[in-house]
Amino acid sequence: APVIGVLALQGDVREHVTALATAGAVARAVRRPDELAGVDGLVVPGGESTTISKLAVLFGLMEPLRTRVRAGLPVYGTCAGMILLADKILDPRSGQETFGGIDMIVRRNAFGRQNESFEAAVDVDGVAGGPVEGVFIRAPWVESVGAAAEVLARHEGHVVAVRQGNALATSFHPELTGDHRMHALFVDMVRDRQGAGSL
Ligand code: GLN
Repeated sequence: APVIGVLALQGDVREHVTALATAGAVARAVRRPDELAGVDGLVVPGGESTTISKLAVLFGLMEPLRTRVRAGLPVYGTCAGMILLADKILDPRSGQETFGGIDMIVRRNAFGRQNESFEAAVDVDGVAGGPVEGVFIRAPWVESVGAAAEVLARHEGHVVAVRQGNALATSFHPELTGDHRMHALFVDMVRDRQGAGSL
């Protein structure tokens, strides 16, 4: 089974570990560069993207992570994790850097103004069996995507799921539901990458 790390600096790490294990991966928390080196894929959880970004710099993970993402490490970011996989953030707070990986511009807290938190059924391209239950918590949306990025889902016209090569991102939190089809999609991406050759 593929070994998939969950970036464990801040955020809902445990829920992702459970979801990944259910979807057939060996899941591990990743806090240090040597732990990052041992995984075949990485989930960047929801939480607070500014905090995760600052801790990544502090823990010496920012550069190793960027390097591995550029080299094709499969990554999946949910909510704050989506923000961290964006090549660009609209109005970044001072000091907020991203790992990058997806040619998109993300707007933080985009759904937050009217609604701090809500649930909605979301149809995701590549996920069979009907819409997934989208849990949105002060969620970002994708303002624009570059040519290489593929839009997988929208909610009320706003892009909420994107894939570019081995990088996947959703505005919502499938790890907080019992439906692990998004994680299964990601585990398949990691398996495909392993099948295609070494990292
Ligand atoms: N609003 C948070 C941020 O900007 C993301 C919230 C979440 O991950 N649920 O980082």
